[in-house]
Amino acid sequence: MAKTFRGGGIMGIRIPTVFSDTDAIRCAGCGESIAVTPFRVSIMDAFSVETPPSWASSAPLNPGPHQFHADPACFRAWARARGHYLCRLSAVRELMRPVALPGEAVRWGLCDGEHRAAHEFVPA
Ligand SMILES: [Zn+2]
Ligand SMILES: [Zn+2]
Repeated sequence: MAKTFRGGGIMGIRIPTVFSDTDAIRCAGCGESIAVTPFRVSIMDAFSVETPPSWASSAPLNPGPHQFHADPACFRAWARARGHYLCRLSAVRELMRPVALPGEAVRWGLCDGEHRAAHEFVPA
């Protein structure tokens, strides 16, 4: 059988390449390929909801969508690598809302905005 294997086919049946460099989607959190449908997270427009300090406009926050495995740990890893904070009352959803945190450095808290209590931001 080995002698009939040429290129990407055996006996005329095409073997699809699952992971190629051109179409592999990589998780923004752990860097591994995503074999199934990626979980996409977009960061809501930072300047339409809450009132950020003026310096916030100079702090770029990539709105995405960022693609992750369907595992909140991957999203947290991504947020941690960027120094973002996550609200403890928030789940990881497809649309996250950024909140500029007060302080000397520019920090962003991410929350799904699905709760009424005050945000409880902790390092991701
Ligand atoms: Zn991942
Ligand atoms: Zn919150």
